[in-house]
Amino acid sequence: MVLKGKVAIVTGASRGIGRATAIALARAGAAVIVNFSQNESAAEEARKNIEGFGGSAVTVRADVTNYSQCEAMVQSAIDHFNRIDILINNAGITRDNLLFRMKAEEWQEVINTNLTGVYNCCRAVLRPLLKQKSGGRIINVASVAGIYGNSGQANYAASKGGVIALTHTLAKELGSRNITVNAVAPGFIETEMTDVLGDQVKAQVLSRIALGRFGRPEDVAAVILFLASSAGYVTSQVIAVDGSLSM
Ligand code: NAP
Repeated sequence: MVLKGKVAIVTGASRGIGRATAIALARAGAAVIVNFSQNESAAEEARKNIEGFGGSAVTVRADVTNYSQCEAMVQSAIDHFNRIDILINNAGITRDNLLFRMKAEEWQEVINTNLTGVYNCCRAVLRPLLKQKSGGRIINVASVAGIYGNSGQANYAASKGGVIALTHTLAKELGSRNITVNAVAPGFIETEMTDVLGDQVKAQVLSRIALGRFGRPEDVAAVILFLASSAGYVTSQVIAVDGSLSM
C-alpha cells in the first residue's frame, strides 16, 4: 500500500486510461477522486469497482475546460479526504481532420480540453498543495503524437506538445517544493478513443509495434503508478508507453 494516506484526483476517470489509473492508485492505497464530464454511470462503475476491493473513491463531475469547476473538484477532494497529494491530468479528446479541412471549433475544442484543461487543474490544485507543504506529484497524460506529430491530428498533437512543454516548465517551477511533474506519452491504447479508427489504420499501426500488440489502459496506469509512488527523484520526464511505436 505505497499510497496509503495519499489523495489523488484523476481527471477523465470514468473510462479508458483514466479509469485504469484510478483503480491502480486506489489498489495502492490512495483515496481517489474519479472525475468525469458527461458519463456519470461509467464513473459510478469505476467507483464501485474501487469500493469492491475496499478502496476509497468518490465521483465528481467537472468539465476540465471550466476553471471554477476544477476548483470545486479540488475542494471536494479536501472536503472528502482532507488533503490532496496527486493530480493525474488524463482527460482528453480527439477531433481528427487534415489541417486544411480542420474547422476552428475542432481546433479550439481539443486545445481547450487537452491543454487548457491541464492548466486549469494544475492551477486549481496548486494553492492547497503548496499550503500543505508536503510535496506532491503531478502526472500529465500526453501522447507520442505530441512528440512526433501525427497526420490528421494537428490540433491533438499541438495540444499534447503543449502539455509536454507545460510539464517541463512546471517541474522547474515546483521542484523546490518537492512537487514532481512528469508526463506519460502513450502510443496506441485500446480504449473508446481508438475504437473508432478503421481496421486498415489499426493494421498499419500494429505493424509498427515491436511488441506485437496494442497497449491496454493498465499498461499506462502501471507507469503512472510508478511516477505517483516510488519515483521521488524523477521529474520533468516524458515516458513513452507505446510498445515501440515511436521507435
Ligand atoms: P477515452 O476512453 O475516450 O476517455 C476519455 C475520458 O476523458 C473520459 O473519462 C471522459 O469523461 C473524459 N473527458 C473528456 N472531456 C472531458 C472534460 N472536458 N472534462 C473532464 N473529463 C473529460 O480516452 P482514453 O483513450 O482513455 O484517453 C485518456 C487520455 O490518454 C487522453 O488524454 C488521451 O489523449 C490520452 N491518450 C490516449 C491514447 C490512446 O491510444 N487511447 C494515446 C495517447 C494518449 P466522460 O466519460 O464523462 O465523457
